[in-house]
Amino acid sequence: MSAVPASPSARFDGDYAVSLTGVHKWYGSFHVLRDVNLHVRRGEKIVICGPSGSGKSTMIRCINRLEEHQKGSIVVNGTELTNDLRRIDEVRREVGMCFQHFNLFPHLTILENCTLAPIWVRKMPKKDAEEVAMKYLTRVRIPEQANKYPGQLSGGQQQRVAIARSLCMNPKIMLFDEPTSALDPEMVKEVLDTMVSLANEGMTMLCVTHEMGFARQVADRVIFMDAGQIVEMNTPDAFFSNPQHERTRLFLGQIL
Ligand code: ADP
Ligand code: MG
Repeated sequence: MSAVPASPSARFDGDYAVSLTGVHKWYGSFHVLRDVNLHVRRGEKIVICGPSGSGKSTMIRCINRLEEHQKGSIVVNGTELTNDLRRIDEVRREVGMCFQHFNLFPHLTILENCTLAPIWVRKMPKKDAEEVAMKYLTRVRIPEQANKYPGQLSGGQQQRVAIARSLCMNPKIMLFDEPTSALDPEMVKEVLDTMVSLANEGMTMLCVTHEMGFARQVADRVIFMDAGQIVEMNTPDAFFSNPQHERTRLFLGQIL
């Protein structure tokens, strides 16, 4: 199956920032997402954890259509994702994403990395785009790096550029896929601090991370995924102090 028809329930999902209802996805014959249901309110912070291969990245990538689901509905900010390219554009306009490997363009300066999409996608005048970029580079506390190239920055600095670059597009929702797991330990905190300040400013965030201190500090809900399913979903307090499922207990035992 490839086409996803607009589902009748979709119109009720406009109240949520992100709404996944009965979502299934297959890679060929491999059933990677199995009946995923998740409704994220505006401003809510969700932390997603779970073993490697459990489908965390796939789920996150389905939300901005980097991957296509085959069954169920995904509604982002009132727009249901189907094969309609206009809808995909609409959703991507609202959603920023940061990956484990920062995915900066190595041949462009930090400033150019941040202004590229605003100038070419949003048709923003260069001067305005640069002003916006400097605002966000200041916010992630590296305005002095604006004219350097990504290769001249530390991993932590590059990840903060990646966050600033996303913010330049003025997203309503930010997706993070293990943004600190490729970083040396001493750089993890500076990236998490940036994410905490974003959370405190009211951004809707879905973060795949195993940084459980971050989860305790900012998450409204923590989700545990295993084998393509959401096995457990709870407030951080309940999730850590009283996990309901054996698989969650096993996992927490390994990472805490
Ligand atoms: P996680 O992020 O939790 O580690 P992923 O979503 O990356 O999990 O992957 C879930 C499963 O899907 C894994 O078994 C992985 O090997 C498989 N997978 C991921 N991407 C692809 C792909 N493009 N084609 C086929 N299988 C994939
Ligand atoms: Mg992953």
